[in-house]
Amino acid sequence: MGRGSIGPGDDVEAWCTRCRMNLNHRVIAVVGSNIQRVHCLTCGGDHKYYPPKGTKPEKTERGHVKIARSVDKAAASVRTSAARAAGEWQTIMREMSPDRAPRTYRVTESFAPGEFIEHPVFGIGRVVDIVGAERMQVIFKDGRKVLVCNKKSSA
Ligand SMILES: [Zn+2]
Repeated sequence: MGRGSIGPGDDVEAWCTRCRMNLNHRVIAVVGSNIQRVHCLTCGGDHKYYPPKGTKPEKTERGHVKIARSVDKAAASVRTSAARAAGEWQTIMREMSPDRAPRTYRVTESFAPGEFIEHPVFGIGRVVDIVGAERMQVIFKDGRKVLVCNKKSSA
């Protein structure tokens, strides 16, 4: 909080491993919200970033950890839903064999749960469930979708 985000080219106070003092450094590399490498403006040396010593280093350290953790959490929840869809997809692709070749999807065709289908837009999918008379749920690479099927007339 307060300082905002720090990026390469910004100046920060940091502990210089060569000068052995807290000095102004230019940020070279940042990963997420953590400064990785800095350039000492006094001795001209490049080195790993160390927070300034003596002046509340504990607080700085904890602040960084907190930010990193909340970013990780958001990324993790995105990963989980994507991973779930990808996991389902990988499972059905493993179960597909040459004798279970996908049928071309048409709204007028009827399908059974477990059948593999090929959709012109979504690609190969597997029927999970028949929903009502003219709907079915299918797993595609992008996730689950509900498609029309068993339609008596195309009008
Ligand atoms: Zn230095």
